[in-house]
Amino acid sequence: MTLVRAAVLLGPRSLAVQTRPSLVPGPGEVVVRVRAAGLCGTDYRIWTGDRPVGYPLVMGHEFIGEVVAAGEGVDGVAPGQRVAVEPNYSCGGCALCREGNRNLCLGRTAVGIDVDGGFAEEARVPARCCWPAPAAPDDQLLLTEPLAVVVRAVRRGAPARGETAAVVGVGTLGLLAVQVLKARGVRVLGVGRSRRRLDLARALGADLVAAAGGEAGEAARSLSGREGVALAIETAGTAEAVAHAVDLVRPGGCVVLTGLPHEPTPLGFFRVVRRELRLLGSMIYQDEFPEAMELLATGAVRAEPLLTHRFPLDRIPDAFQAHRAPDAVKVALSLDG
Ligand SMILES: [Zn+2]
Ligand SMILES: [Zn+2]
Repeated sequence: MTLVRAAVLLGPRSLAVQTRPSLVPGPGEVVVRVRAAGLCGTDYRIWTGDRPVGYPLVMGHEFIGEVVAAGEGVDGVAPGQRVAVEPNYSCGGCALCREGNRNLCLGRTAVGIDVDGGFAEEARVPARCCWPAPAAPDDQLLLTEPLAVVVRAVRRGAPARGETAAVVGVGTLGLLAVQVLKARGVRVLGVGRSRRRLDLARALGADLVAAAGGEAGEAARSLSGREGVALAIETAGTAEAVAHAVDLVRPGGCVVLTGLPHEPTPLGFFRVVRRELRLLGSMIYQDEFPEAMELLATGAVRAEPLLTHRFPLDRIPDAFQAHRAPDAVKVALSLDG
């Protein structure tokens, strides 16, 4: 019997790397040998216990790997294939799924949150979650999942080429949003708190960056030559960032919200009505995985400058500590060693 290692969350801040038998795929499932997995704010909130989950749980929803076993009835992916895993699958049968809104399905299953995920040498997922990976380094494709979130947000905002947009929050999602907007020919203002990350936003193509606060409003007017930018994409998920995004768009503009604010969010709706603003939520992704992979494979979006920390699976507690380090953007686990 082959044994594989998995990082098992036993309770808040309690992670144990355990050895267990190799996974066996059920009908319609595949087993993926994980090559690299990314850690994000959601994992962090699960790790601290802020976000309740059922224990024990193997976290990890951003990962790529190689299919090593396929269950009955699987076609389209086969052992030996390198894949990016789309870590959400819907029920497929409800009204929301039937109308194409599978990201909104109330019966949606999130890999690494509702069921075991990719902080392990092996993960078992439905075959339909696997996208054959294009020829590009693992490190580059590792950001497919967060990039798919951003691609959807930008599609929702639908900025015209030559228009202006502000990205509020310059963590992983924000730094990806800057690049997706630039690839679409949009002029971009990056807004955040960390000087270091604002510098990175600039290096990744932002035309202008500004510290959150008064300075950003002036920057939005100067970049657009108007009353503000046409579009703001909020990626921080804080009440303050939401209000800030609303302040930066001009009358008739659009605000796309991707962060999930976990606190009540006071917002001056006078401004929303008076300026006829459109506020759009954007929840994970529907069909954005292929475009995200394409953007990474062609190099239109660069992942490497965002990957600040790498740890082997055995050092996963250190990875969670590193997530909060001032110089951290994306912390990853490397399992291909
Ligand atoms: Zn995530
Ligand atoms: Zn459904």
